[in-house]
Amino acid sequence: MIQLRNIRKEFGDLVAVEDLTFEIEPGELVTLVGPSGSGKSTVLNMIAGHLEPTSGSIQLDETDITHMRPQERPTSMVFQSWALFPHMTVRENIRFPMEAQGMPKDGRVDELLDQVELDPVEYADKQADELSGGEQQRVALARAIAYDPEILLLDEPLGSLDYVLQKQLRRELSDLNEELDMTFIYVTHSLESALLMSDRIFVLREGDLVQSGEPIDIYKRPRNRFIAEFMGDANIFELDSAVRTNGTLEVSSSAFEAPIEFTDARDVAPDYVVVRYDDAFVAPDLERNVGVEATVHNTLVKGNRVLVEVDVPNSEDEYIADMNYEKGATLSNGDSVYFQWDKEDTILVPE
Ligand code: ADP
Ligand code: MG
Repeated sequence: MIQLRNIRKEFGDLVAVEDLTFEIEPGELVTLVGPSGSGKSTVLNMIAGHLEPTSGSIQLDETDITHMRPQERPTSMVFQSWALFPHMTVRENIRFPMEAQGMPKDGRVDELLDQVELDPVEYADKQADELSGGEQQRVALARAIAYDPEILLLDEPLGSLDYVLQKQLRRELSDLNEELDMTFIYVTHSLESALLMSDRIFVLREGDLVQSGEPIDIYKRPRNRFIAEFMGDANIFELDSAVRTNGTLEVSSSAFEAPIEFTDARDVAPDYVVVRYDDAFVAPDLERNVGVEATVHNTLVKGNRVLVEVDVPNSEDEYIADMNYEKGATLSNGDSVYFQWDKEDTILVPE
């Protein structure tokens, strides 16, 4: 188990990581997500030993590794740009760091190539610069796991690959995580990657851990507006009031004709009602149990889905429902409709 305790990292006057405490179990695949500059790479580099924390400690099982040199740690890192030696073969690239550690074994190279889905017969003796981007990243991955590290650190490793390849490698990385029983700490700003791959997601903002949990929890129960918007397409209704009486929460907004009442609301003092695009529905009749009168503003066909944009009285914001084609394609601009959703899909968040 790796534990970060009150980790802080300053670069001069800049506080890149504020006061970070978390632990990750062996074999977990944890994703660090957050906007650019939120401290994700800084955290990985402190775990790898490329950066020293200003204060706090990093503990691996019983050992304090806070100040240990990178090569003494059981960690290995994969970056967005894979930095292979271009004129060396695949085999040499993978053997090179193993030789430096005094552990070269040719059989091991073949085994590693199999693990990253590259046929050793075809690839082992190819020169690195003859490979495609995806193949090079597979080799970089093989090189990173060659020492059998306890923790693999991946800093936006699929960032420069095309979408189809990203999808494929994402799946392979998940499989590899299970097969190797190795802890993976994966940094991405791709929400889709985080939601699909992770056992747990850690959301960072300005060097703070703002929420952690299983993907579905963070998606369905974000802790504040920032996380709600960061974790998926969100319609936002600003509330005028939220009044709690005897376990009932009544929220009002100038966009609602009447307050909406929740009997099972969590213990939050919400400032906003959030409805995900794909939880929202637009139709002339009220077919769900919460609805707001609205006017269709635009419809945008996206494959077999339609994004229906509506205007809502008393709100400047645009509201969007991501609907299936059959329902969405019947709507026209100017139609009087209800922007509606199931009450249990309502997300209530503070600022
Ligand atoms: P992320 O990976 O989430 O995009 P980083 O960890 O790279 O964010 O950066 C966090 C903050 O620390 C940013 O404001 C960045 O400019 C700053 N930073 C990162 N590395 C250095 C450094 N070596 N020197 C000075 N500032 C740095
Ligand atoms: Mg980064």
